[in-house]
Amino acid sequence: MKEFTHILPVDSSGFYGRYGGAYIPEILHSNVEKLKEAFYRYASDDEFMAEYHRLLRDYVGRPTPLYRADRLSSHYNTNIYLKREDLNHTGAHKINNAIGSVLLACRMGKRSIIAETGAGQHGVAVATVCALMGLECVVYQGALDVERQQPNVQRMKMLGAKVVPVESGNKTLKDATNEAIRHWCCHPESFYVIGSTVGPHPYPEMVAYFQSVISSEIKKQLSELTGRDYPDAVIACIGGGSNAAGAFYHFIDNDKVSLIAAEAGGLGVDSGMTAASIMAGTEGIIHGARTLVMQTPDGQITEPYSISAGLDYPGVGPLHAHLAKTGRTRTVAVNDDEALEAAFRLTRTEGIIPALESAHALAVLDKIQFAPDATVVVNLSGRGDKDMHTYMKYAK
Ligand SMILES: *Cc1c(COP(=O)(O)O)cnc(C)c1O
Repeated sequence: MKEFTHILPVDSSGFYGRYGGAYIPEILHSNVEKLKEAFYRYASDDEFMAEYHRLLRDYVGRPTPLYRADRLSSHYNTNIYLKREDLNHTGAHKINNAIGSVLLACRMGKRSIIAETGAGQHGVAVATVCALMGLECVVYQGALDVERQQPNVQRMKMLGAKVVPVESGNKTLKDATNEAIRHWCCHPESFYVIGSTVGPHPYPEMVAYFQSVISSEIKKQLSELTGRDYPDAVIACIGGGSNAAGAFYHFIDNDKVSLIAAEAGGLGVDSGMTAASIMAGTEGIIHGARTLVMQTPDGQITEPYSISAGLDYPGVGPLHAHLAKTGRTRTVAVNDDEALEAAFRLTRTEGIIPALESAHALAVLDKIQFAPDATVVVNLSGRGDKDMHTYMKYAK
């Protein structure tokens, strides 16, 4: 059997520098150990990975295009390439991880899947793959999000998933995640699919691995388009950090590539209405990992705010906390109004309506001036259909 190759800067206990680890209740210990064993085994198994890539190709529609956005490039006087994750089946990058994780669950003999979801993109992706593979699916979603995100709730139900509204706390993603973990403690026979590079080790490494197909495609596509297999910069938005981890993965070791993370400033990093966990957060533990968390001085997690439900999370994956604190990534906070403006700009110059989350990455182009001959890749993590009600409120 081959050995799994760790590309990420993670040690055997799941620490990225000072961040990460697995802070979990005793009852989940053996589950997480078994998951780790299975993940390392199957991630280096040719047959498993061939099945994963076959599904990505024939079911999800990969490789997604790397598109040179000519009119946007002229506007910013540089060379902008969009990695079109919005063209994936179900409309975002989340399905890459859902396919890998649910396939792994099948190999481990699991028949029932649980997941948490905020806006519903991860819930829809997991419900989709469960329908595809004939598995039972329970999705925890904050009651407020269930109300706000009806189209995705309906999609999950049509796909056969059971959606459980969570009434605790703020009734959003953080509370849904708490509840999913609680359910997992009572049902250790089920498989928990986490939707981002968060949670206890090995989840952040596993989710990043299943998303790393994004940067491996970028390398190949750039080399065909420009004759060089790396760009000058990669820009991605950060909620928990999975699309950014996937887009950065194969460039982390290449210092020539500047990696830029756009987090949700909300109404402003210092406004108290923000989800910028790297800039406004301090070290703490959330959902099984030590990382940067928005919290009060006595450790109460503060409620995050962003116009974008997918970025509305009070923590960030430990990989990103580490990359930011060691200076490998540059973090830019993008406020609601700046993201909206960038969404309308992309729509009117390229005819592509981006997800509000992805619009945060696009807005970085208004804040950083790149050289006229630079190659800049923006990861377009998802499409904007789900955000139409928000866009219409602000339409000029
Ligand atoms: C969920 C989501 C995000 C944020 O999650 P990450 O794990 O940080 O990638 C970003 N964009 C879209 C379209 C999403 O659905």
